[in-house]
This record gives sequence, structure tokens and C-alpha cells, in this order.
Amino acid sequence: MIPFLDLKASQMELSEQLQSAFERVLNSGWYVLGEEVKQFEMEFADYCGAKHCIGVGNGLEALHLILHAYEISDGDEVIVPSNTYIATWLAASYTGATPVPVEPDEKTFNIDPACIEAAITPRTKAIIAVHLYGQSADMDAINAIGRNHGLKVIEDAAQGHGARYKGKRVGSLGDAAGFSFYPGKNLGAIGDGGAVTTDDQELADRIRILRNYGSRVKYHNEAQGFNSRLDELQAAFLREKLKRLDEWNDRRKSIATIYLDGLKDSNIGLPEVPAWAEPAWHLFVVQSNDRDKLQHYLTKNGVGTMIHYPIPPHLQPAYQELGYPEGTFPVAEKLSNTILSLPMGPHMSPQNAQEIVALLKRFDKS
Ligand SMILES: *Cc1c(COP(=O)(O)O)cnc(C)c1O
Repeated sequence: MIPFLDLKASQMELSEQLQSAFERVLNSGWYVLGEEVKQFEMEFADYCGAKHCIGVGNGLEALHLILHAYEISDGDEVIVPSNTYIATWLAASYTGATPVPVEPDEKTFNIDPACIEAAITPRTKAIIAVHLYGQSADMDAINAIGRNHGLKVIEDAAQGHGARYKGKRVGSLGDAAGFSFYPGKNLGAIGDGGAVTTDDQELADRIRILRNYGSRVKYHNEAQGFNSRLDELQAAFLREKLKRLDEWNDRRKSIATIYLDGLKDSNIGLPEVPAWAEPAWHLFVVQSNDRDKLQHYLTKNGVGTMIHYPIPPHLQPAYQELGYPEGTFPVAEKLSNTILSLPMGPHMSPQNAQEIVALLKRFDKS
């Protein structure tokens, strides 16, 4: 049996470090917004090449707080990819703004910059670019559109920890970025967590206040804020795991290389990596016109797979209010029917990846 992802193995490899991080926090007597969060924020900002990092409750809140801090609200529009995880859309909806979908490039899965301008209206305030599956979106092209139209460019980096674009890390490429530390992400906590990174001092300041009840000084409330804080325990765990992130991303890359080399002459559609991209390989997503059959075949042969994502946001009951009938976003809809995520993770053995390649080749010939 080859699991889709072995989450426990990550914690077991670092068991000693995580136990001592736990002890450190337990014995500190301080559990929310203390020294661990402060240190993690400095270390993660430094890692991303950003000036500021603000730890928050989760990835969705990171994106929502950025939009809220930029005063995006009712009646505004936010451009989002048509094929992302629903959190990208929800972040816009939470502010009262309307998410406006733009189709991805079918080969890279990321928002197609050539399609963005057609979606801009006088109400558009921001573009959220998602680094889907761990590969950076084409940020130079997106930033240029943002500049020309006076729009904020926000990275949804929830799947991209450590990925690079033209040598620069994601989290340092737009006006601000939202990260998630959900356990299954490349940098995952042992519970929920998130962060904002930005070079914008004013934005960082506002989000620091907003995440903590709108307060800079206890019991003095400058704004109607939220309670969305990264806690000390998760920050302490994340500091240990951040030290391994590059090594673990390298292991993901070796697995991806086995898949890419092994399947290059098959009918399985492989992800395209532009010359400027160094993906973090959060997911390894292939395409097949016989996707359901392929998934069934792999399950039968003991290989765990998943679909990210089986229903695009515009066809979810949650977004029926926007009134997009089937066929409105054909690229996202087609992808939802053809994509399949193969096992991928820092604790997967190269032998297992070879076995999966062999299975896929056999399927391909049948
Ligand atoms: C995981 C994820 C989020 C949300 O992060 P949470 O911490 O689960 O709130 C947002 N966007 C994308 C693309 C994600 O994969």
C-alpha cells in the first residue's frame, strides 16, 4: 500500500525536536503572541525574502485579513483563478467583495495572465494569484497588469512554501502573500496556522492590529478587529520544521523527477514547468481522459490518489448566488474531470515512485 501522503512520518522524523519545542512552550507560561511567534515571524520573513511576517490563525484568514486591511469591501471585485481551492474565493467573499474567476493555463494550472485584463472592471480592486500545486504563477506579467490598473496583487502561497519564481521565493513577489500551515502543506503545523508576508510596512502594521481584536495596546481598540492568531505552540513547532523545509522540498523534487522522467513518453498528461519556475511540488498532478478509470486502477493496486479539486468553486452550491451555469469556465471544468494527484511527499520513497511509474505505464498500454 502506497498512501497518498504519510503525515505521521513527518512528525516522527522530528519527534525529539517537536517534543522539546512543546516542553519549551509548556514551561514558558505564555501561550498566545509571545516569543515563539515573534521569532518564527522573523525567521519566516527572512526565509521568504520579505520584510514582514505576521502569524495568523490559518491560510483563509491570512488572505481575508490582507483584503480587509486594503479596505476591500461590499461592491468591490477581486480577480481569482477559476480552478483554485475554494478558500481563495471565500477570502474575497468574507470582505463583501465578489470573486471574479479567470481561467488558468491548462499546462501549468496557474491563472493565465493573458485572460486577466478582460475581467477587469471599474470595481476591480485586487488580483489573487495562486501558486497552485506548489508552482509559482507568472508574477511579472500579473504585477504589470496590477500596476497598469492600480490593483493590489496578492499571492495565495498556501501551496507554495519555498517555491521560487525567477530565483525569488514566493511570499516576496506581490504586494502581500497569504500562507497556510495546515498539516498537509509543505510547511505544516500540528494543527491550524497561517501567516501574511509583505514588504508593505503599513499593511503589516494594520494586520498585526486586526489579528488581535483591533488592538495594539491591551484594551485599547483602534479598529473592529478579529481574533486570528498563530499560537505559541504551533509557532514553536513551525520553527523546527522550517529548518527542514528546503531539505524536504528537495526530496519532493526527487519524487517529481522520477515521475516526469518515467512518464514522459506516455499518454499521461504531465505538469509543465516553465524555465523560470522552481516548484515546491506540493502536489504532483497528472491529466488523463480516463481519469476515473485510472484512479480506480491505482486504488485497486494499492496506490492512494486524490483530486484537487473535483468541483470548481463556480459550480459549488456555495457559489450558486453568482449564477454561473456549467460551461462558463471550460478550462477549470475540463481540468476537474481530467486531473489526478499522485502520491507526493518528503517521506515517500523513490522506490515507491518507481512502482507507480511502472503501474501507470502498464495502464497506458492497456
Ligand atoms: C490550504 C489552502 C488555503 C487555506 O488554508 P487554511 O489554512 O486551510 O485556511 C487557501 N488557499 C489554498 C490554495 C490552499 O491550498
